[in-house]
Amino acid sequence: MVVSNRLPFTYTRAGDGLKRQPSPGGLVSALEPVLRRRGGTWIGWPGVELKKGERVSTRADKYRIKPVALSENDVARYYHGFSNRTLWPLFHSLPALSRFERKDWNTYSEVNECFAEATAKHAADAGLVWIHDYHLMLAPEFLRSMSHEARLAFFLHIPFPPYDVFRLCPWDHELLRGLLACNLIGFHVESYARNFFDCAERILGARVDRGAMVVEHGDRVARVGIFPIGIEFALYQEKAMKARREPHRERIVLGVDRLDYTKGIPERIRAFERLLELHPRHKENVVFLQLAVPSRSQVAEYRELKSEIDELVGRVNGRFATATWSPIRYLYRSLGQERLCGMYRDADVALVTPLRDGMNLVAKEYVACQVDDPGVLILSQMAGAAETMREALLVNPFDLDETARQIHRALTMEETERASRIASLRRRERRDDVEAWVNQFLDVGAEEQAGLEPISEDEIQGWLRGYVKSYPLCVFLDYDGTLTPLVDHPSKARLAPEMREALLACARRDDTDLSIVSGRALDDIRRIVGESGLIYAGNHGLEVEGGAIDSFRHEDLIHYGERIQELTSVLEELASDGAWTEPKGPTLTFHLRSVPERKRKRLMEKVRNVIMEHGYQPRDAHAAIEARPPIGWDKGRAVLHILRECYGPAWSERVRVIYVGDDQTDEDAFRFLAGLAMTFRVGSAETPTSALRRLPNVEDVRSLLDWIGSRPPADPALLHASR
Ligand code: UDP
Repeated sequence: MVVSNRLPFTYTRAGDGLKRQPSPGGLVSALEPVLRRRGGTWIGWPGVELKKGERVSTRADKYRIKPVALSENDVARYYHGFSNRTLWPLFHSLPALSRFERKDWNTYSEVNECFAEATAKHAADAGLVWIHDYHLMLAPEFLRSMSHEARLAFFLHIPFPPYDVFRLCPWDHELLRGLLACNLIGFHVESYARNFFDCAERILGARVDRGAMVVEHGDRVARVGIFPIGIEFALYQEKAMKARREPHRERIVLGVDRLDYTKGIPERIRAFERLLELHPRHKENVVFLQLAVPSRSQVAEYRELKSEIDELVGRVNGRFATATWSPIRYLYRSLGQERLCGMYRDADVALVTPLRDGMNLVAKEYVACQVDDPGVLILSQMAGAAETMREALLVNPFDLDETARQIHRALTMEETERASRIASLRRRERRDDVEAWVNQFLDVGAEEQAGLEPISEDEIQGWLRGYVKSYPLCVFLDYDGTLTPLVDHPSKARLAPEMREALLACARRDDTDLSIVSGRALDDIRRIVGESGLIYAGNHGLEVEGGAIDSFRHEDLIHYGERIQELTSVLEELASDGAWTEPKGPTLTFHLRSVPERKRKRLMEKVRNVIMEHGYQPRDAHAAIEARPPIGWDKGRAVLHILRECYGPAWSERVRVIYVGDDQTDEDAFRFLAGLAMTFRVGSAETPTSALRRLPNVEDVRSLLDWIGSRPPADPALLHASR
């Protein structure tokens, strides 16, 4: 299955009906034959707003087309808005041009969900679901929640920006999580993959293995691959051979681009102007021919760019033109492929100088079309293509003098040098054409999932050394799902002997205090852990005791004694189909793990209502709902209470704090402790977290405790101050 913003066919309105034409571009011509050969489905937007009841044909040659209908508002906010006015400039490292609008974001998310829904039904049966480009970065996560077994792959056709740029996006976490639901994530070049690793690590706290090219996010592992896209080399070569020859007097420097601010067209015109200043001999002998294809003219920045270019061309022509020669020939339109190939073939120099470009296909097409007298390719270092096309003359497009020098060098280069540079470039592009790209991606997509090595002590040391230094530690641990795996009944959640050993090794140290912070009743958690010397916080911190602090019970609880009894008896009546209630003193948990899936949702709804009717707060837990008194107390506040009790108001100068938890109630502590502690969320990647890092499972919690238990002793002066 292929999922992309556009279908391989673009529909346009013709009279009362719809006309269908193949969509242009290398991607369609590369992927279409694959689907024709293997069968499958292509999911995308048909390009027009469909009227009520109107349908587009769903049959293509040997594969199915599944249109995703979008309204005018969807297109405005998802496509022109978030995709092209937020992500496009940001990902091209031009954040000043990015507009961050929540409404655009909301629609982007809704449309991504629609794409996922259209894909979900057959996703698990498809060999691979291949999602394309920045328009659909959230679709993988939506799809994963609908189809757990599906094999999902994503390819980004534009750059992935560096951390400092990416994090400017208010929805940076969500975008990364969206992608990390995939089994495989592909980029054009290594530097984009490196940026992605940095972002996943620093923003989400994911584990990254740059050598093995994998990212571990919670309980999921995504592989990252580098797949520089190619072109239909043979097709361009053939068209160049056939294209009509048009005689021209001057030598030609050619630019071909969509009219886009990433393409560096004004800079290029200025560089050409500089050439004429530095090397007047080119006057009347050379023409700069710029083809600018109209693009995104609904967007203000594009209209402004067009005016700027118009003016610049006028100024330079006005300055240098003679009665029989103008230095710049500027075409604002698109050309058919035949004419384009003829133009490539006949150009002496191709000036491909984007300020930033994911790959740049024009550079490759130019090379494929050098079937006669070999020309010279000048290529921006900022294009993905520059990472492989080393034989081009590489320039920094912002350096006008340097670009002018390279144009001069290209115009005066000997035939032997031109021929050898072009020959190497052609050889590579012929071999690494777009078909090779598709095959390589599909081969890697079909490979077995690689995992990450278990977390090593070195890795933990890397996370914690800089933070802990030689301070004493106060460690907070949730119990269920953190110290023991989740089981079908709370009474079965027992500490494994190795975990107990790891806990005790920490507890025995005089520079380490341990607190267990649980949703269980205080007596229950104390009994089930059964070790003295630890601090226990039960009922999400409503009750605390143990260690060196006075027993604590939240003062407002006395008001809720009767009400909880009433609530318990009403909920016990509701507990059918395997559901059961667990009274925990001031709070209560209603367990639904054994309730059949189809009945669960309704029952949950009912339970939530009953809890609210009794003046309690319902909170979702693991296959359960908790009823808590609405007294503004949670694990976060309990942690603060313990820290102040143990170390005084200046606690943050005396100890370092680590908190490890696995569920929604721990998020209160993660948020509260932001900037004050190292926080770890254990387990699934499904839910967002405010923790700094994720640990995939309980085993990794044990490794963390092992490190804490065996680290060098705290500085005695600091230890003394903490007591
Ligand atoms: N192109 C086109 N019509 C034209 C001029 C160019 O279809 O009149 C094509 C060109 O052949 C190339 C694409 O537009 O395949 C531009 O791709 P590139 O990667 O260079 O830039 P993008 O537009 O994707 O940012």
